[in-house]
Amino acid sequence: MPTAIRIEHTGGPEVLTPADVEVPSPGPGEVLIDVAAAGVNYIDTYQRAGVYSMTLPYTPGLEGAGTIAEVGSGVTGLAPGDKVAWQGHPGAYAQRAVVPADVAVPVPDAVPAETAAAVMLQGVTAHYLVNSTYPVAEGDTILVHAAAGGVGLLLTQLATAKGARVLGTVSTAEKETLARRAGADEVIRYTDRDFAEAVDELTGGEGVNVVYDGVGASTYEASLRCLRRRGMLVLFGASSGPVPPIDPQVLNSGGSLYLTRPTAADYVTSRDELIWRTGELFSAVAAGTLDVRVGARYPLADARTAHEDLEGRRTTGKVLLVP
Ligand code: NDP
Repeated sequence: MPTAIRIEHTGGPEVLTPADVEVPSPGPGEVLIDVAAAGVNYIDTYQRAGVYSMTLPYTPGLEGAGTIAEVGSGVTGLAPGDKVAWQGHPGAYAQRAVVPADVAVPVPDAVPAETAAAVMLQGVTAHYLVNSTYPVAEGDTILVHAAAGGVGLLLTQLATAKGARVLGTVSTAEKETLARRAGADEVIRYTDRDFAEAVDELTGGEGVNVVYDGVGASTYEASLRCLRRRGMLVLFGASSGPVPPIDPQVLNSGGSLYLTRPTAADYVTSRDELIWRTGELFSAVAAGTLDVRVGARYPLADARTAHEDLEGRRTTGKVLLVP
């Protein structure tokens, strides 16, 4: 049984190497966590491939949940035995992880550790996208790409709860069913038809208030065409590849459009902000108003297969590694 996954050099999923790694004791301001579940996120593939640079070697995985085994000096408010979850700090693909106490949030009893791991990064992202980047309001019509993905299913639910009409894009019939179950009013198979044309038809030529686009290269151009006057393109990822430089003039000719490229670190700028966003997510889970779908669980040693499936568009909802 490996104790962690290590990356010695960047590359394809094959560089995810099971290994035995000695975990240090937590230093000042840190906690040691027995990991119950680690979340797999698309950003893990960018880091693994070298698109985002990491100091090598490293243990991947930016989110997880489990039980505190030890606390370092100076840590207050957290103690051994506490159930916690974190996001935004690497080292989750492991049986044990040392993380700064600042990023570890207590998880309520009503929320299982697995669910907490599954809702941290993608949930916080969906939360900031609909509450802060473009605050979705009742009556808005919005377009969510990859609506059956990790961020997509959560974003669709959060936007629906605010009274928005949600149009979603997906690649398969199974994903269409999931997106509809999450609340999408209309689902477009963007692999079969021009989604901008479909949006035009579905909105009577008016377009949408906002497009949440985490797909990038293959969608961004048509996403701009889906917007109504003064609409906003929120380009928050690049699962199909990076977007080339954009001429600002396209925003003018498209109808005084807005374009933003947000990142979670700018929307979780303090512990208070982290507690606020995760607190709302945990409350919604406990109240039964937010369904966190775990689409697949893999043993830690199968991290490579998890990445292959995620990049091969074979996953839905959350992908977890279970040590
Ligand atoms: P997903 O579960 O959404 O998986 C990616 C999905 O993208 C696939 O399932 C697939 O859905 C779709 N897709 C479309 N084209 C491709 C392609 N060529 N190759 C692979 N997938 C494709 O992943 P996550 O929820 O983890 O992340 C979604 C996006 O959000 C990513 O771009 C990620 O980087 C971004 N992100 C950004 C954050 C931020 O703060 N900016 C934070 C967290 C995530 P389908 O088959 O239906 O097309």
